[in-house]
Amino acid sequence: MTDTPTQLFIGGAWVDAADGATMPVDDPATGEILCHVADAGPKDARLAEDAAVQAQQEWARTAPRARSEILRRAYEIILDRVDELAHLMTSEMGKPLAEARGEVAYAAEFFRWFSEEAVRIDGGGGILPDGRNRMLLSRRPVGPCLLITPWNFPLAMGTRKIGPAIAAGCTMILKPAPQTPLSSLALAAILKEAGLPDGVLNVVTTSRAGEVCEPLLRGGRIRKLSFTGSTQVGRILLAQSADAVVRTSMELGGNAPFIVFDDADLDVAVDGAMLAKMRNMGEACTAANRFFAHSSVADEFGRRLAERMGALVVGPGTRDGVDVGPLIDRTGRAKVEELVADAVERGAEVLVGGRTPEGPGSFYPPTVLAGVDPESRLMDTEIFGPVAPILTFDDEDEVVRRANDTPWGLVGYVFTEGLERALRVSERLEVGMVGLNTGLVSNPAAPFGGVKQSGLGREGGRVGIEEFLEYQYLAVPVR
Ligand code: ADP
Repeated sequence: MTDTPTQLFIGGAWVDAADGATMPVDDPATGEILCHVADAGPKDARLAEDAAVQAQQEWARTAPRARSEILRRAYEIILDRVDELAHLMTSEMGKPLAEARGEVAYAAEFFRWFSEEAVRIDGGGGILPDGRNRMLLSRRPVGPCLLITPWNFPLAMGTRKIGPAIAAGCTMILKPAPQTPLSSLALAAILKEAGLPDGVLNVVTTSRAGEVCEPLLRGGRIRKLSFTGSTQVGRILLAQSADAVVRTSMELGGNAPFIVFDDADLDVAVDGAMLAKMRNMGEACTAANRFFAHSSVADEFGRRLAERMGALVVGPGTRDGVDVGPLIDRTGRAKVEELVADAVERGAEVLVGGRTPEGPGSFYPPTVLAGVDPESRLMDTEIFGPVAPILTFDDEDEVVRRANDTPWGLVGYVFTEGLERALRVSERLEVGMVGLNTGLVSNPAAPFGGVKQSGLGREGGRVGIEEFLEYQYLAVPVR
């Protein structure tokens, strides 16, 4: 902790906010202040923008292999420091250390993946149909980017954006969530150590997100926004991006259906449910939000899930043997409490959990609700907590219709042993990703993203770098 930077990272230097402002970072397990970090205002944002704009041309000319090797070195440094980074992440975000270690490895993997992609950027070309013209296609970086990340995966959401931006030759300003700035600052220090030239990455921590980001988006010098966060904030940023026609990639909310058919292997379904619901204490946009179980298996599924959920150990993420850490803060917990109270008022049965513990921190117990009324608020709200509401269904058409009856479309989970049903239902779900007999879809080599109001564009996979590249087409007559 003592070595973790707490200042802004601008033009390769660690600096205080221009007005000297700082903001506290809290430990969600105790509610106590861990430390203070610089709290940037619009003036600092302007300096970061200057640095990114100034570094852009030369960075775009840097050899792809050189960019690749910086990412590769950073990947290796991260893996050398898994424990240190995991502790930092747990202290500011709350997730248990084992999960934090998992996230550090996952985050590093984006750097390895994009170090490999950096040297595979290709254009194309050929003779046009009229036979009189050639077409030469080249790829170029889109330009300086603004990257805005959430608090739930403090390191991986950063590397998932920074990795492809570096690989493509873009410079950038990273604005992490105010709850979890430390992981991003530690990451900037690692990239500097790995040889990233000054100004390519700038990190601006702030409690004044709107004041800092809006002028950047409207100013015309930032050419790309990559955002992960709520649909509500995403809409505001899309509107702000319209002025200067800024290219956008948006990873927004989800409302994932988790469907258990009567021919599902219930052991597999319960394992999948534990992953899809409990990864990150349910604080993930990919978290299963609505469980639809066929009426012939719903009781058994609910019973087994409640048994597994009830056996999880809740406590501070740094403590050995803890499975479930605190939620991010008391506001997040209050929202979960309200959603559960609403469902219970409408007749849901609490199979396990549902009661907020006394004491410090923002802990909430793993909770399973059965017989949930479809009108309950948690059916169309991202719960972002360890709560599994179970509803029943009787036929395939009905469950597909209900699963799709939401403005979101990030991910869906389908559990069945029937191949044709598995394919048919997956194809009919209006989602960007499907977990078929698995509760985990995220992987750096796969395109992550949603349809409908879950977002625009994809992160990771072969297409992840495309979001940071433009085409240039050169017309050349054949003479
Ligand atoms: P959450 O509810 O998970 O915190 P948000 O969408 O509020 O999700 O936050 C995601 C990220 O967006 C955070 O980094 C946050 O600071 C940032 N953010 C929130 N409001 C704005 C805004 N008006 N302009 C730019 N960034 C914002």
